Amino acid sequence: GNQPRVEVNVLLLGAHSVGKSALTVRFLTRRFIGEYGDIESVYSRVDRIDAQDVCFNVWDSPYTQDDGKSLSLPDKQLQWADGIVLVYSICDRRSFHVVRQQLQLIRRSRKPSSVPVVVVGNKLDLHCHRSVSSEEGRLLALSQHCGFYEVSAAETYEDVLLVFQRLVHLIRESRALR
Ligand code: GDP
Ligand code: MG
Repeated sequence: GNQPRVEVNVLLLGAHSVGKSALTVRFLTRRFIGEYGDIESVYSRVDRIDAQDVCFNVWDSPYTQDDGKSLSLPDKQLQWADGIVLVYSICDRRSFHVVRQQLQLIRRSRKPSSVPVVVVGNKLDLHCHRSVSSEEGRLLALSQHCGFYEVSAAETYEDVLLVFQRLVHLIRESRALR
């Protein structure tokens, strides 16, 4: 039967230039436009997932504190989020470490710290320049009970869609447990 519409707040985090905006725009418009500003904004899209209308509110954060030492996450963003997409580039090891650190901060700082997270290795089309193996990405995600995907925001809409659908499934599970 039909279930009532739900809202899910999705926060994108990760280092600068890993493709957070590209993923957001790909998800919302199915397009890849190549260059994105650093505008901070929340975008919405309604999608039908498993016979239920899901209203996605996507916060594409330009927040970037890449130096690792002073890494922190605004509490406001974490409190807002029902689920988080943590993005790195498979060609950029430093961005993988940023994800590792942000994951630790999320698990430590938020209550409940079990907020659903999907880890995404982006820029799969540039696999010839790969510096983070699939295995490393998957292990990090599994060790923290996160979903894991490698995608190309530049080339594949379907894989990007899977990321957001998986996040909805994880959010549903976590809500059912409450
Ligand atoms: P953000 O800072 O994380 O929001 O990163 P952007 O979305 O602005 O992307 C940074 C740069 O990487 C831009 O030049 C994008 O065109 C490029 N980019 C993003 N995703 C991909 C991808 O999947 N493959 C390739 N080749 N380039 C990408
Ligand atoms: Mg951006």
